[in-house]
Amino acid sequence: MKAKKCLGQNFLINKDVINNIANSINVQKDDLIIEIGPGMGALTKELKKKNSFLLCYELDTDLKPYLNALEDDKTKIIYEDILKSNIKKDSKDIPYQKLFIVGNLPYYITTPIIKYLISLNLDVKEMTFMVQEEVADRFTALPNHKDYGSITLYLKYFFNVEKLFRVSKNSFNPVPKVESAIIKLTKRENKPEVNTEKYFKLISDSFKMKRKTLRNNLSNYDFKKVEEVLLKYNLPLNIRAEELAEEVFVDINNSL
Ligand code: SAM
Repeated sequence: MKAKKCLGQNFLINKDVINNIANSINVQKDDLIIEIGPGMGALTKELKKKNSFLLCYELDTDLKPYLNALEDDKTKIIYEDILKSNIKKDSKDIPYQKLFIVGNLPYYITTPIIKYLISLNLDVKEMTFMVQEEVADRFTALPNHKDYGSITLYLKYFFNVEKLFRVSKNSFNPVPKVESAIIKLTKRENKPEVNTEKYFKLISDSFKMKRKTLRNNLSNYDFKKVEEVLLKYNLPLNIRAEELAEEVFVDINNSL
């Protein structure tokens, strides 16, 4: 089948990579795996070997000839945009224990997919995704690194985010322009105690202009209170957001 660029179709052809992804997911028979974008079923076939419940969302109905044969009483394919899916409703009759989400994601909507899944408020144990390597670096960056930003802190609030391994572009057909990586997002148990709406606005505002100081980016905030927190951590008042760890943001947030 001719891959559709507009749907981010780069099909995995490297068996080792497929096995490594499947092996990194530690599911039991009575767990549910949701696969996003099964494509021609390269990863789906490997996931089926785990004998868990498997629910796949694929937008492209032209892939039916490849995916039909994979359906059985534990595996279902839903032809729908994942961004419009109702996972809670679709999975309500499945007697599963833990929920896992997996996918070699269509790169043009990586962040919207992850944000959408978060918005559904599902009780997900782990999400394992193939993403563009640059995006993996942004999601897993540490303070004082150029890739550290509001999305890093946003994801960190919900998950422990790790980069598992790099994937060469030659592992796909067609070969994409960018290198890729597998990331794992594991549900975080000890989330910071914050008003999330206020906290996510604070981190987004703090990184608005990356090269500016925190003081400049937070000009609409009561900076006296921010200063007090910075002084408590012995940090200079002309610091930039990129240099601040999560606990400092949480402290700033709760002082405002
Ligand atoms: N899993 C397959 C593999 O690894 O070979 C295909 C991965 S390919 C990078 C991404 C897949 O996501 C494609 O099959 C594409 O049709 C599908 N897709 C794109 N946009 C989607 C959407 N909004 N909802 C569900 N699937 C989508």
